[in-house]
Amino acid sequence: MDKYQLLKQYFGYDSFREGQEYLIDSILEGRDVLGIMPTGAGKSICYQLPALLLRGDEAGSRAITLVISPLISLMKDQVEGLNQAGIHAAYLNSSLTPGQYRKALSLAKEGRYPIIYVAPERLATPEFLDFAQNADIVMVAVDEAHCVSQWGQDFRPGYLKIINFIDGLKRRPVVAAFTATATKEVKEDIIDLLMLQNPAMVTTGFDRKNLYFGVMSVKDRYGAVKNYLECHPDDAGIIYCLTRKNVEEVCEKLAGEGFPVTRYHAGLSDEERKSSQEDFIFDKKPVMVATNAFGMGIDKSNVRFVLHYGMPKNLEAYYQEAGRAGRDGGPAECILLYSGQDVTTNQFFIENNQDNQELDAAMRQLVMERDRERLRKMTFYCFTNECLRDYILRYFGEYKENYCGNCSNCLSQFENTDVTEIAKSLIGCVESSRQRYGINVILDTVHGANTAKIRGYRMDANPFYGGQAKTHSHKLRQVMNHLLIHGYLAMTDDEYAVVKLSEKAGDVLYGQEAVIMKLAKEQPHPAKTEKGKSGRRKSSYGISAGSVKGAGFGDKLSEAEEALFERLRGLRTEIARREKVPPYVIFSDRTLIHMCMLKPETKAEMLKVSGVGEYKYDKYGKQFLDCMMKSGSVEL
Ligand code: ADP
Ligand code: ZN
Repeated sequence: MDKYQLLKQYFGYDSFREGQEYLIDSILEGRDVLGIMPTGAGKSICYQLPALLLRGDEAGSRAITLVISPLISLMKDQVEGLNQAGIHAAYLNSSLTPGQYRKALSLAKEGRYPIIYVAPERLATPEFLDFAQNADIVMVAVDEAHCVSQWGQDFRPGYLKIINFIDGLKRRPVVAAFTATATKEVKEDIIDLLMLQNPAMVTTGFDRKNLYFGVMSVKDRYGAVKNYLECHPDDAGIIYCLTRKNVEEVCEKLAGEGFPVTRYHAGLSDEERKSSQEDFIFDKKPVMVATNAFGMGIDKSNVRFVLHYGMPKNLEAYYQEAGRAGRDGGPAECILLYSGQDVTTNQFFIENNQDNQELDAAMRQLVMERDRERLRKMTFYCFTNECLRDYILRYFGEYKENYCGNCSNCLSQFENTDVTEIAKSLIGCVESSRQRYGINVILDTVHGANTAKIRGYRMDANPFYGGQAKTHSHKLRQVMNHLLIHGYLAMTDDEYAVVKLSEKAGDVLYGQEAVIMKLAKEQPHPAKTEKGKSGRRKSSYGISAGSVKGAGFGDKLSEAEEALFERLRGLRTEIARREKVPPYVIFSDRTLIHMCMLKPETKAEMLKVSGVGEYKYDKYGKQFLDCMMKSGSVEL
């Protein structure tokens, strides 16, 4: 079978996503790879599929891919998912009893599993080494590869052992590393510490297009949360609170009003934490109220919303927590409920941070300063009129469009603005200076900056010098970006990054073409006032109704289809309980929604649904077809 057939057969997908194919092909050519892709982008398939291809169809092939993963729950989910899809896989970690561990290892020795997940700490144990020395390990995939770097928050000493392990193998396998974190330092660490050899690299960026971002400043936060849950009765979601006390209060109140909530924070017993986590993962209690202690290690893919009942201490934390929504790629909502009190609470946390005891006073001061700065940036997020997504991405060093159309600001704060005059100045400046300068010189010239550099280039004599002195420099930059993104101007692809004219530039400069773009309204932010008593707001797909809408296909499904979705979901829950696996391992929300849209009546039609492969069809297809028939889906 080739890679496309495998993709369809086992995973039920028709095409690859951005970056996947290149990484897969590179692995198959025997090249190391580094994939930096945000959560939900589909990193797993990048090593799972080559693992199958490397094993091949030949009888007796025992090629093994080891997947090193830091989190037990994540491993468990992945392995369950693979087995559900008809792929033999196992995990080796401390959650197994010694008996189970030996059993798994002996099956592994017999060559039963093409894919084996292992915790980094296991790599150095004699039992495992003995197995590895005699096994045909063709690839080592390192998941969450940033754990190898001491720069990151998630450093795992066990990850430093990976390279020794690889070195000790008889034959060096292909090494494939994956992460969603990609600062320059971390990236370099991954390449150095895992000793990747000329790796093929893919960076698909930080953006999570399926996430809607919103900020609400409401006096009655509890009321807003309650209202949100009422509008999303069946969706799974997380409500993050700043303190344990908040968790207790919010959870108790919501439970008292009959919402299916559970709670998690570091002050609870191990047992309670474990059982709440399970209730959440298995959709028994789909709403989790938690502190930031909850998260590392949950891989629930159908989280449809993450509400922040309070502002986290920085954007790193916020994006990580909010990012737990929509891992299945289906649309999900991330809403921050802000109150002025949050700043004080966070300042208190910063000043009383016990994590830095070992630092000397000067260092502690520095760290505190840095934390305060981060808090300031987080606070600005709650007040900016600009696109929230753009704000976050810029914070992480990524520059995109200033308008995403899927955040609360873009939807309420932006208006079409005619920027033709500004565009003419910028383009005119590029032309009159004979296309020799980079962005900053052009911007400074048009803005009328009186700097040595500008004078040195004689740009103060340029006819456009100071032509837009009254326009805010930030706005100038946004228009410049717009002109670049929409092909009026282009940048040379060398180290000088000079701005050049494109064909379209003339239409603006000499022709009649107007340049219209979305810009934030110049007004105070409504987050400062109470926005909509009920806490409702318009999102791109309307949040008035239940789960299907939450899954983001709401505007495509009719009422009858929504009802069908609920029934299919009920069936999925039933099967999940019977097989003791989380529901999303059987079919994702997206798959069920696609099913409602296609309404398959035959096997061939069912296989057209995204996420339904041969194996899953054999296992579940009939039950779902029957359920659709019973529901009279034909008349829908
Ligand atoms: P990551 O590890 O990058 O967070 P996953 O590997 O868990 O992401 O994939 C996220 C979701 O996207 C999964 O439900 C997965 O099945 C789905 N997915 C991956 N690749 C594709 C594809 N080519 N087409 C459709 N869905 C895909
Ligand atoms: Zn936006």
